[in-house]
Amino acid sequence: MTHPLLDLPPLTAAHFASVERRVAALLATENDVVITQGEALLPLEGCIRSGAGPGSTALNVVTGPYGQTFGNWLRDCGATVVDLAVPFHTAVTAAQVEQALADRPEIDFVSLVHAEAATGNTNPVAAIGEVVRAHGALFMLDAVASVAAEPLLTDAWGVDLCVIGAQKAMGGPAGVSAVAVSPRAWERFAANPRAPRRSYLSLLDWKERWIDAGRVALPHAPAQLETLALEACLERIEASGLAAVTGRHAAAAAATRAGALALGGGLAPFVHEAAEAAPVATTLRTPAGVDATELVTKALAADPSLPLVAVKGGARSASVEGGGGRRVGGALAAEMVRVNHYGADATPEAVRSSLAALGAVLAGAGVAVDPAGAARAADEAWAATRADAPTRADTSGN
Ligand SMILES: *Cc1c(COP(=O)(O)O)cnc(C)c1O
Repeated sequence: MTHPLLDLPPLTAAHFASVERRVAALLATENDVVITQGEALLPLEGCIRSGAGPGSTALNVVTGPYGQTFGNWLRDCGATVVDLAVPFHTAVTAAQVEQALADRPEIDFVSLVHAEAATGNTNPVAAIGEVVRAHGALFMLDAVASVAAEPLLTDAWGVDLCVIGAQKAMGGPAGVSAVAVSPRAWERFAANPRAPRRSYLSLLDWKERWIDAGRVALPHAPAQLETLALEACLERIEASGLAAVTGRHAAAAAATRAGALALGGGLAPFVHEAAEAAPVATTLRTPAGVDATELVTKALAADPSLPLVAVKGGARSASVEGGGGRRVGGALAAEMVRVNHYGADATPEAVRSSLAALGAVLAGAGVAVDPAGAARAADEAWAATRADAPTRADTSGN
């Protein structure tokens, strides 16, 4: 008896290279794509340790928890780090980045998270890319939570290192990721004597043994199941059309936001401006006196399939040194619910049931809410968003 997961023919080099080409198309890039066989933190750490080191100065933009992680890696590999932090309920502006770069002309590396799945905000990468390019620094973007949820134009935005993972809006597996590397970034890596080599973190190993060798032989046994699953989710996105997939995510975010506001009872979007709210997930502050974990636990007891997560920030805060030496706070709300309306959950049904479940638990706790109004507002916002963005891809049945 053959087993569908175990008795597979070997994954060929040509097949692996074809998946890389499809990732490049998804990222709108001509740059080399390396599929990295592990979660997205693997290429993110690889990029930082390859692109920064003693003698380099990095601008680390902190708009959520991942930026804090990047700052730690940058410091660990010897770079001088300038943290630019903004409150997590907002986005950073291109003007803030421009000012930080003007204050420290020696900055040669910029790290930015596009969309923050944890806190629900998204940053204006096109405008930021312009100021980073004008300054000349290498630009690393964590696009794990934005890919397939919102436009991501690697080359047009001047992104030198664009990192993605498959498990959020792509609706794919966890445990496989990819990075698009610009020629400039390869040069920087090659010139860095401390860039990882003969290491799991090494992107240069992939360049030498795989890309420069003509992509004819894989340097080691590929993670076959993850690569095939990545290919399957790329096929699914291509079949729907990328615009339809990002459109669904935009509509899900708008519907969740509108629905939560109409539900009332004190459930409020954490990200103040709708334009700064990430299409991948919506964070909602819970009403005073309502414990987020309890709320989510009760909602999930009624329906375990709902895409709800409690976010417990506690005292965690991103209060760090800002560009001009000032303290900038980025405290995470202690009590939040996150609606993960991504991938298979970027649907009107998932949004409606999430709002209904939250409304039912709040009503049960004696909070005055309007579940019917929430459902209506969510449906209207969904329809309005989809009508805003008619695309050819939308007519293909999605
Ligand atoms: C989910 C996420 C990651 C981590 O991805 P893993 O594959 O779990 O390592 C990194 N950055 C952002 C912005 C994310 O949303």
